[in-house]
Amino acid sequence: MTPPNRLVSIVVPFYNEGQGADAFYAAITPVFDRVPDCDFEVVCVDDGSRDDTLQRLIGLVERDKRFRTIELSRNFGKEAALTAGIDAARGDAVIPIDADLQDPPMLIPELIAEWQRGSEVVLARRADRTSDSFIKRKSAEFFYRSHNHLSTIKIPENVGDFRLMDRVAVDALKALPEQQRFMKGLFAWIGFRTSVVDYTRHQRAVGDTKFSGWKLWNLALEGITSFSTAPLKLWTYVGLAGAMLTLLYGAYIVFRTIVHGVDVPGYASLLVAVLFLGSVQLIGIGVLGEYVGRIYMESKRRPSYIVRKRHERDEN
Ligand code: UDP
Ligand code: MG
Repeated sequence: MTPPNRLVSIVVPFYNEGQGADAFYAAITPVFDRVPDCDFEVVCVDDGSRDDTLQRLIGLVERDKRFRTIELSRNFGKEAALTAGIDAARGDAVIPIDADLQDPPMLIPELIAEWQRGSEVVLARRADRTSDSFIKRKSAEFFYRSHNHLSTIKIPENVGDFRLMDRVAVDALKALPEQQRFMKGLFAWIGFRTSVVDYTRHQRAVGDTKFSGWKLWNLALEGITSFSTAPLKLWTYVGLAGAMLTLLYGAYIVFRTIVHGVDVPGYASLLVAVLFLGSVQLIGIGVLGEYVGRIYMESKRRPSYIVRKRHERDEN
């Protein structure tokens, strides 16, 4: 007897993607036929969309019994939507993918082939990011570089959320207790036997990006503060260096006063020193605040997302 097919779950966060839902369906389903030795389920997460995304996703559920939809009670953000989908996935492997077809579904058979060869995590790496704007490319590069300098957990560059994870990796991910979930970092943190498949990133099929510069900046802060305490420790050294310089400068003033006598205290240098140190202190307190704020949010133990309703066909 041949063993039963293994189940692969595709997890897709949708936020105001009504225009693209049918295109997504049309692009993903032919891929399933190309992997005959696996069964598929698609877990769509409606992340509190304000357009007709939810109706369209329910339409897909009615059309195809492989599709399920999880309706969140409001917009929780991509990280939470992904978490909701991964929590609900039942597959032996889980593949998160963007709804806008920027992650090419045609790569899925390759990811699965690597998995069947024994990898527990298969990363899809963007070999070519020219579809992103220059600024986005540069800022992404800067983020990865600073993050990987500061943190012991290295996030592989040019790898997004599009990847395949075996059930062992998914269960490890689900066991992580934090509520503020920076998925890229958590994905890297769990480890496991990993291989990489390269692809070219396309332009968004329809609609607009949901990530403004400000949102990306905050995501970057979330990433760095979740995985490194280096920004906190920095201030000890800034303070030490400042104290050392002050000591030298103080010694110099004492020496000068002994040799040349008392002169009129410098108003300008005093003001500069006070303002500079004041600002440096505020930056230090701000960094502290970033961490304290996160401790505060985490300590509330609120769930990362709330489900309003699960839409699925219960015929099996
Ligand atoms: N997304 C989401 N919730 C949000 C923002 C985005 O579920 O609050 C989804 C979005 O629908 C898409 C994916 O996350 O499927 C990636 O978003 P987008 O394409 O806007 O990001 P980009 O590719 O520009 O980085
Ligand atoms: Mg996109």
